[in-house]
Amino acid sequence: MDDDIGFAVEPITNCSHVPTDLPRQPFVEKPCAECGEPKENWQCMTCDVVLCSRYRQGHMRQHCESREGHSVCLSYSDLSLWCYACDSYIANDALDSTKRAAYIAKFGEEPPTRAPLLAGAASSSA
Ligand SMILES: [Zn+2]
Ligand SMILES: [Zn+2]
Ligand SMILES: [Zn+2]
Repeated sequence: MDDDIGFAVEPITNCSHVPTDLPRQPFVEKPCAECGEPKENWQCMTCDVVLCSRYRQGHMRQHCESREGHSVCLSYSDLSLWCYACDSYIANDALDSTKRAAYIAKFGEEPPTRAPLLAGAASSSA
């Protein structure tokens, strides 16, 4: 069975650093608060600050590494969640609604739900 969903790295599900004050309001249009980088920023899931990625000036990494309890952030480029304390992508149910809100803010539509393959395949082929 081919279960390739296109991610090279599986997110971990046991990150213990996910903030409890959720969901957060996404600000996908915000530039980096430090350098004004307009694209591919990250949002801290603890304090909502928007900062640039490690591929820009690395301001989000600086933020997370210098503050206790600020480890989990959301990418505006691919809506993945990263934990700096775990040094890994993470998946967490409590963060799903924030991720969903960010998707809607970014694309203007609901994220696609992963429909069961059988339902689609059986409906119209013949
Ligand atoms: Zn973690
Ligand atoms: Zn920056
Ligand atoms: Zn923060």
